[in-house]
Amino acid sequence: MSYIKLFFINIFGYYESWMLWLSVVSVIILVAILIYIFNRSEEHKKFNSISLYKVIWKWQYKKNRIISLWCYCPECGSALLCDDEYCRSTVALTSKTTFLICKNCGDVEKSRIVGGDRNYLLKIVKFEIQKRIKNSTYKNRSEQDESSRV
Ligand SMILES: [Zn+2]
Repeated sequence: MSYIKLFFINIFGYYESWMLWLSVVSVIILVAILIYIFNRSEEHKKFNSISLYKVIWKWQYKKNRIISLWCYCPECGSALLCDDEYCRSTVALTSKTTFLICKNCGDVEKSRIVGGDRNYLLKIVKFEIQKRIKNSTYKNRSEQDESSRV
């Protein structure tokens, strides 16, 4: 206790018990604020799947980067095959099409995305995910499926 007293006397020139209590309360508030900020910035990490373009997308986070993003069958949950061979034979953006196929469901086409190859598709899905993290709309689960209704 005497060290604490000395600490306050060194800074303020005198010591009263309210100083100690005020310091303790300030530290508790500060820690609570830090925990709150930390939890808030981590909160979106629970958001790791979304339904877009009629299929399920899953991913992980490394720090705040989205990694291992891939699409899965909405029926059986298998990882989908991505066929973008067709994109290389055409230069017209509107005819560049990527097909998402489920082997497990019997080579069934689950979705087709017009506009580019698999890199393009992964980029736009990543963009959609980041947009939802940024404006916090990922919390409204009903809005997650908007693009697959198109
Ligand atoms: Zn399937």
